[in-house]
Amino acid sequence: MILLDGKVASAAVKESIKQETDVLLANGKRAPHLAAILVGNNGASETYVASKVKNCEEVGFQSSLIRFDSDVDEETLLNQIIQLNNDTSVDGILVQLPLPKHISEAKVIETISPNKDVDGFHPINAGKLVQGLPSFIPATPYGIMLMLEHYNIQTKGKHAVVIGRSNIVGRPMSILLSSNLPYGNCTVTLCHSHTPNLNELCLQGDIVVAALGRPGFVKAEMVKEGAVIIDVGITRVTDETAKKGFRIKGDVAFDEVAAKAAAITPVPGGVGLMTIAGLLKNTLQAYKASIGV
Ligand code: NAP
Repeated sequence: MILLDGKVASAAVKESIKQETDVLLANGKRAPHLAAILVGNNGASETYVASKVKNCEEVGFQSSLIRFDSDVDEETLLNQIIQLNNDTSVDGILVQLPLPKHISEAKVIETISPNKDVDGFHPINAGKLVQGLPSFIPATPYGIMLMLEHYNIQTKGKHAVVIGRSNIVGRPMSILLSSNLPYGNCTVTLCHSHTPNLNELCLQGDIVVAALGRPGFVKAEMVKEGAVIIDVGITRVTDETAKKGFRIKGDVAFDEVAAKAAAITPVPGGVGLMTIAGLLKNTLQAYKASIGV
Protein backbone atom coordinates (compact mmCIF):
# COMPACT_ATOMS: atom_id res chain seq x y z
CA MET A 1 0.00 0.00 0.00
CA ILE A 2 1.31 3.43 -0.94
CA LEU A 3 0.58 6.26 1.48
CA LEU A 4 -0.22 9.30 -0.67
CA ASP A 5 1.56 11.69 1.63
CA GLY A 6 0.42 15.30 1.32
CA LYS A 7 3.49 16.54 3.16
CA VAL A 8 5.83 15.00 0.61
CA ALA A 9 3.80 15.85 -2.50
CA SER A 10 3.01 19.43 -1.42
CA ALA A 11 6.65 20.04 -0.46
CA ALA A 12 7.67 19.06 -4.00
CA VAL A 13 5.08 21.38 -5.59
CA LYS A 14 6.02 24.21 -3.25
CA GLU A 15 9.72 23.77 -3.97
CA SER A 16 9.12 24.17 -7.70
CA ILE A 17 6.95 27.27 -7.06
CA LYS A 18 9.66 28.73 -4.83
CA GLN A 19 12.36 28.13 -7.44
CA GLU A 20 10.28 29.84 -10.12
CA THR A 21 9.50 32.76 -7.78
CA ASP A 22 13.16 33.13 -6.78
CA VAL A 23 14.15 33.50 -10.45
CA LEU A 24 11.47 36.14 -11.03
CA LEU A 25 12.54 38.07 -7.92
CA ALA A 26 16.20 37.83 -8.95
CA ASN A 27 15.17 39.41 -12.27
CA GLY A 28 13.74 42.41 -10.43
CA LYS A 29 10.07 41.46 -10.56
CA ARG A 30 7.76 42.07 -7.62
CA ALA A 31 6.58 39.12 -5.51
CA PRO A 32 3.27 37.37 -6.29
CA HIS A 33 0.63 38.70 -3.88
CA LEU A 34 -2.32 36.83 -2.38
CA ALA A 35 -4.96 38.77 -0.45
CA ALA A 36 -7.11 36.72 1.94
CA ILE A 37 -10.33 37.94 3.51
CA LEU A 38 -11.53 36.38 6.75
CA VAL A 39 -14.94 37.19 8.20
CA GLY A 40 -15.54 36.37 11.87
CA ASN A 41 -13.43 34.07 14.00
CA ASN A 42 -14.52 30.52 13.20
CA GLY A 43 -11.75 28.25 14.55
CA ALA A 44 -11.36 26.10 11.43
CA SER A 45 -11.38 29.14 9.10
CA GLU A 46 -8.75 30.88 11.25
CA THR A 47 -6.54 27.77 10.97
CA TYR A 48 -6.97 27.49 7.20
CA VAL A 49 -6.24 31.16 6.54
CA ALA A 50 -3.22 31.19 8.87
CA SER A 51 -1.85 28.17 7.04
CA LYS A 52 -2.40 29.78 3.63
CA VAL A 53 -0.59 32.96 4.73
CA LYS A 54 2.31 30.94 6.20
CA ASN A 55 2.62 28.90 3.00
CA CYS A 56 2.73 32.09 0.91
CA GLU A 57 5.72 33.26 2.95
CA GLU A 58 7.44 29.90 2.52
CA VAL A 59 7.43 30.16 -1.28
CA GLY A 60 8.37 33.87 -1.39
CA PHE A 61 4.89 35.31 -2.01
CA GLN A 62 3.53 38.42 -0.38
CA SER A 63 0.24 37.97 1.47
CA SER A 64 -2.29 40.29 3.06
CA LEU A 65 -4.91 39.22 5.56
CA ILE A 66 -7.97 41.44 5.75
CA ARG A 67 -10.29 40.71 8.67
CA PHE A 68 -13.89 41.67 9.28
CA ASP A 69 -16.15 41.06 12.26
CA SER A 70 -18.88 38.50 11.68
CA ASP A 71 -21.54 41.25 11.61
CA VAL A 72 -19.92 43.07 8.66
CA ASP A 73 -22.53 44.05 6.10
CA GLU A 74 -22.46 42.57 2.62
CA GLU A 75 -21.86 45.89 0.89
CA THR A 76 -18.71 46.60 2.92
CA LEU A 77 -17.35 43.18 2.04
CA LEU A 78 -18.18 43.55 -1.66
CA ASN A 79 -16.55 47.01 -1.71
CA GLN A 80 -13.39 45.54 -0.21
CA ILE A 81 -13.31 42.90 -2.94
CA ILE A 82 -13.79 45.57 -5.64
CA GLN A 83 -10.89 47.53 -4.14
CA LEU A 84 -8.69 44.42 -4.33
CA ASN A 85 -9.86 43.76 -7.91
CA ASN A 86 -8.62 47.24 -8.83
CA ASP A 87 -5.34 46.96 -6.94
CA THR A 88 -2.69 46.06 -9.50
CA SER A 89 -0.32 44.89 -6.76
CA VAL A 90 -2.74 42.07 -5.82
CA ASP A 91 -2.72 38.92 -7.97
CA GLY A 92 -5.05 36.58 -6.14
CA ILE A 93 -8.06 37.11 -3.88
CA LEU A 94 -9.58 34.52 -1.63
CA VAL A 95 -12.53 34.89 0.68
CA GLN A 96 -12.50 32.14 3.28
CA LEU A 97 -15.78 30.22 3.30
CA PRO A 98 -18.20 29.68 4.94
CA LEU A 99 -19.51 33.21 5.41
CA PRO A 100 -22.14 34.35 7.95
CA LYS A 101 -25.69 33.62 6.82
CA HIS A 102 -26.57 37.28 6.08
CA ILE A 103 -23.91 37.42 3.32
CA SER A 104 -24.53 35.82 -0.06
CA GLU A 105 -21.58 33.55 -0.90
CA ALA A 106 -22.69 33.55 -4.54
CA LYS A 107 -22.54 37.36 -4.70
CA VAL A 108 -19.13 37.40 -3.02
CA ILE A 109 -17.73 34.81 -5.43
CA GLU A 110 -19.17 36.63 -8.46
CA THR A 111 -17.67 39.93 -7.31
CA ILE A 112 -14.10 38.57 -7.32
CA SER A 113 -12.47 39.31 -10.67
CA PRO A 114 -12.23 36.01 -12.61
CA ASN A 115 -8.58 36.94 -13.28
CA LYS A 116 -7.85 37.00 -9.52
CA ASP A 117 -10.15 34.10 -8.57
CA VAL A 118 -7.39 31.80 -7.29
CA ASP A 119 -9.92 29.58 -5.49
CA GLY A 120 -11.44 28.89 -8.93
CA PHE A 121 -15.03 29.32 -7.69
CA HIS A 122 -16.20 32.08 -10.08
CA PRO A 123 -18.84 30.85 -12.58
CA ILE A 124 -16.60 32.01 -15.46
CA ASN A 125 -13.76 29.80 -14.27
CA ALA A 126 -16.17 26.93 -13.56
CA GLY A 127 -17.53 27.23 -17.12
CA LYS A 128 -14.05 27.30 -18.62
CA LEU A 129 -13.12 24.18 -16.66
CA VAL A 130 -16.12 22.33 -18.09
CA GLN A 131 -15.08 23.33 -21.62
CA GLY A 132 -11.43 22.39 -21.07
CA LEU A 133 -10.29 26.00 -21.45
CA PRO A 134 -7.44 27.48 -19.38
CA SER A 135 -8.91 28.54 -16.03
CA PHE A 136 -8.28 28.61 -12.33
CA ILE A 137 -9.07 25.11 -11.10
CA PRO A 138 -10.68 24.95 -7.64
CA ALA A 139 -7.79 24.46 -5.25
CA THR A 140 -8.82 21.13 -3.71
CA PRO A 141 -9.48 19.20 -6.95
CA TYR A 142 -6.36 20.85 -8.39
CA GLY A 143 -4.37 19.65 -5.38
CA ILE A 144 -5.70 16.12 -5.87
CA MET A 145 -4.60 16.18 -9.52
CA LEU A 146 -1.14 17.32 -8.36
CA MET A 147 -1.12 14.45 -5.87
CA LEU A 148 -2.01 11.90 -8.59
CA GLU A 149 0.76 13.36 -10.75
CA HIS A 150 3.33 13.32 -7.94
CA TYR A 151 2.72 9.62 -7.25
CA ASN A 152 2.19 8.86 -10.93
CA ILE A 153 -1.17 7.20 -10.29
CA GLN A 154 -2.45 5.89 -13.63
CA THR A 155 -5.97 7.07 -14.32
CA LYS A 156 -6.54 6.52 -18.06
CA GLY A 157 -9.43 4.12 -18.68
CA LYS A 158 -10.08 3.68 -14.96
CA HIS A 159 -13.46 3.96 -13.28
CA ALA A 160 -13.47 6.81 -10.77
CA VAL A 161 -16.25 7.12 -8.22
CA VAL A 162 -16.60 10.59 -6.71
CA ILE A 163 -18.85 10.91 -3.65
CA GLY A 164 -20.14 14.48 -3.25
CA ARG A 165 -21.14 17.01 -5.92
CA SER A 166 -20.28 20.38 -4.36
CA ASN A 167 -19.09 23.19 -6.61
CA ILE A 168 -15.80 23.38 -4.72
CA VAL A 169 -14.81 19.70 -4.59
CA GLY A 170 -16.93 16.87 -6.00
CA ARG A 171 -18.25 18.34 -9.23
CA PRO A 172 -14.99 19.91 -10.46
CA MET A 173 -13.18 16.71 -9.41
CA SER A 174 -15.53 14.67 -11.59
CA ILE A 175 -14.88 17.04 -14.52
CA LEU A 176 -11.10 16.87 -14.16
CA LEU A 177 -11.00 13.08 -13.84
CA SER A 178 -13.21 12.69 -16.92
CA SER A 179 -11.27 15.29 -18.97
CA ASN A 180 -8.66 14.42 -21.57
CA LEU A 181 -5.76 15.25 -19.26
CA PRO A 182 -2.58 13.34 -18.36
CA TYR A 183 -4.16 12.30 -15.03
CA GLY A 184 -7.73 12.24 -16.34
CA ASN A 185 -9.48 10.09 -18.94
CA CYS A 186 -11.44 8.18 -16.33
CA THR A 187 -15.02 7.05 -16.64
CA VAL A 188 -16.60 8.89 -13.74
CA THR A 189 -19.58 8.12 -11.56
CA LEU A 190 -20.65 11.11 -9.46
CA CYS A 191 -22.61 10.15 -6.34
CA HIS A 192 -24.63 12.32 -3.96
CA SER A 193 -27.17 11.99 -1.19
CA HIS A 194 -29.86 10.73 -3.61
CA THR A 195 -27.71 7.95 -5.07
CA PRO A 196 -29.58 4.77 -4.11
CA ASN A 197 -26.95 2.09 -4.67
CA LEU A 198 -23.87 3.94 -3.48
CA ASN A 199 -22.12 0.95 -1.88
CA GLU A 200 -22.47 -1.07 -5.08
CA LEU A 201 -21.13 1.78 -7.22
CA CYS A 202 -18.29 2.51 -4.84
CA LEU A 203 -17.21 -1.14 -5.01
CA GLN A 204 -16.69 -0.69 -8.76
CA GLY A 205 -14.31 2.25 -8.32
CA ASP A 206 -10.66 1.83 -9.29
CA ILE A 207 -10.34 5.32 -7.82
CA VAL A 208 -12.65 6.57 -5.07
CA VAL A 209 -12.77 10.23 -4.08
CA ALA A 210 -14.71 10.73 -0.85
CA ALA A 211 -15.87 14.34 -0.45
CA LEU A 212 -19.09 14.28 1.54
CA GLY A 213 -18.18 15.42 5.04
CA ARG A 214 -19.33 12.26 6.88
CA PRO A 215 -16.50 10.95 9.08
CA GLY A 216 -15.59 7.31 8.42
CA PHE A 217 -18.36 6.91 5.81
CA VAL A 218 -16.35 4.79 3.34
CA LYS A 219 -15.84 1.34 4.90
CA ALA A 220 -13.72 -1.61 3.77
CA GLU A 221 -16.72 -3.50 2.38
CA MET A 222 -17.42 -0.56 0.02
CA VAL A 223 -14.05 -0.60 -1.76
CA LYS A 224 -12.49 -3.13 -4.07
CA GLU A 225 -9.09 -4.69 -3.51
CA GLY A 226 -6.36 -2.49 -5.02
CA ALA A 227 -8.41 0.71 -5.30
CA VAL A 228 -6.86 4.17 -4.99
CA ILE A 229 -8.60 6.10 -2.21
CA ILE A 230 -8.61 9.90 -1.98
CA ASP A 231 -10.11 11.18 1.26
CA VAL A 232 -11.13 14.84 1.06
CA GLY A 233 -13.22 14.93 4.23
CA ILE A 234 -12.25 17.16 7.13
CA THR A 235 -14.56 17.03 10.12
CA ARG A 236 -13.78 18.09 13.67
CA VAL A 237 -14.98 15.28 15.91
CA THR A 238 -15.19 16.00 19.64
CA ASP A 239 -12.63 14.02 21.63
CA GLU A 240 -12.01 14.97 25.25
CA THR A 241 -8.73 13.02 25.22
CA ALA A 242 -7.29 15.24 22.46
CA LYS A 243 -5.35 18.36 23.47
CA LYS A 244 -7.65 20.67 21.48
CA GLY A 245 -10.81 18.77 22.50
CA PHE A 246 -11.36 17.46 18.96
CA ARG A 247 -9.75 15.32 16.29
CA ILE A 248 -9.80 15.81 12.53
CA LYS A 249 -11.51 12.89 10.78
CA GLY A 250 -11.72 12.07 7.10
CA ASP A 251 -14.61 10.50 5.19
CA VAL A 252 -12.82 7.15 5.00
CA ALA A 253 -12.40 4.57 7.78
CA PHE A 254 -8.66 4.71 7.23
CA ASP A 255 -7.29 1.54 8.88
CA GLU A 256 -9.76 -0.94 7.42
CA VAL A 257 -9.77 0.66 3.96
CA ALA A 258 -5.96 1.01 3.85
CA ALA A 259 -5.71 -2.77 4.32
CA LYS A 260 -7.44 -3.25 0.92
CA ALA A 261 -6.24 -0.15 -0.98
CA ALA A 262 -3.32 0.12 -3.40
CA ALA A 263 -2.88 3.75 -2.34
CA ILE A 264 -4.64 6.04 0.11
CA THR A 265 -4.42 9.61 1.43
CA PRO A 266 -4.32 10.12 5.22
CA VAL A 267 -6.38 12.72 7.10
CA PRO A 268 -4.81 14.94 8.27
CA GLY A 269 -1.69 15.11 6.12
CA GLY A 270 -3.25 14.34 2.75
CA VAL A 271 -5.56 16.38 0.52
CA GLY A 272 -5.64 19.42 2.86
CA LEU A 273 -1.97 20.14 2.23
CA MET A 274 -2.44 19.65 -1.51
CA THR A 275 -5.26 22.21 -1.50
CA ILE A 276 -2.76 24.84 -0.40
CA ALA A 277 -0.35 23.70 -3.12
CA GLY A 278 -3.17 24.17 -5.66
CA LEU A 279 -3.92 27.63 -4.32
CA LEU A 280 -0.25 28.66 -4.58
CA LYS A 281 -0.08 27.34 -8.17
CA ASN A 282 -3.16 29.37 -9.05
CA THR A 283 -1.68 32.49 -7.43
CA LEU A 284 1.53 32.11 -9.40
CA GLN A 285 -0.53 31.66 -12.60
CA ALA A 286 -2.53 34.85 -11.84
CA TYR A 287 0.69 36.75 -11.12
CA LYS A 288 2.37 35.61 -14.33
CA ALA A 289 -0.66 36.67 -16.36
CA SER A 290 -0.70 40.01 -14.54
CA ILE A 291 2.95 40.88 -15.19
CA GLY A 292 2.97 39.23 -18.61
CA VAL A 293 5.60 36.51 -18.21
P1 NAP B 1 -20.77 19.95 0.87
O1 NAP B 1 -20.89 21.21 0.09
O2 NAP B 1 -21.52 19.79 2.14
O3 NAP B 1 -21.17 18.76 -0.13
C1 NAP B 1 -21.27 17.46 0.34
C2 NAP B 1 -21.71 16.57 -0.78
O4 NAP B 1 -21.77 15.24 -0.28
C3 NAP B 1 -23.08 16.91 -1.34
O5 NAP B 1 -23.07 16.79 -2.73
C4 NAP B 1 -23.99 15.85 -0.72
O6 NAP B 1 -25.05 15.47 -1.54
C5 NAP B 1 -23.03 14.69 -0.59
N1 NAP B 1 -23.43 13.79 0.49
C6 NAP B 1 -23.70 14.11 1.77
N2 NAP B 1 -24.05 13.01 2.46
C7 NAP B 1 -24.04 11.99 1.59
C8 NAP B 1 -24.31 10.61 1.68
N3 NAP B 1 -24.69 10.05 2.84
N4 NAP B 1 -24.18 9.84 0.57
C9 NAP B 1 -23.78 10.40 -0.59
N5 NAP B 1 -23.50 11.70 -0.76
C10 NAP B 1 -23.63 12.48 0.32
O7 NAP B 1 -19.26 19.63 1.24
P2 NAP B 1 -17.88 20.04 0.53
O8 NAP B 1 -17.65 21.47 0.70
O9 NAP B 1 -17.79 19.43 -0.83
O10 NAP B 1 -16.88 19.27 1.50
C11 NAP B 1 -16.91 17.86 1.66
C12 NAP B 1 -15.92 17.47 2.73
O11 NAP B 1 -14.61 17.86 2.28
C13 NAP B 1 -16.08 18.19 4.07
O12 NAP B 1 -15.67 17.34 5.12
C14 NAP B 1 -15.13 19.37 3.98
O13 NAP B 1 -14.71 19.82 5.24
C15 NAP B 1 -14.00 18.73 3.22
N6 NAP B 1 -13.16 19.66 2.47
C16 NAP B 1 -11.83 19.44 2.54
C17 NAP B 1 -10.97 20.22 1.82
C18 NAP B 1 -9.52 19.93 1.91
O14 NAP B 1 -8.72 20.79 1.59
N7 NAP B 1 -9.14 18.71 2.31
C19 NAP B 1 -11.45 21.26 1.04
C20 NAP B 1 -12.84 21.46 0.95
C21 NAP B 1 -13.68 20.64 1.68
P3 NAP B 1 -26.25 16.48 -1.96
O15 NAP B 1 -25.66 17.38 -3.02
O16 NAP B 1 -27.30 15.58 -2.49
O17 NAP B 1 -26.62 17.22 -0.72
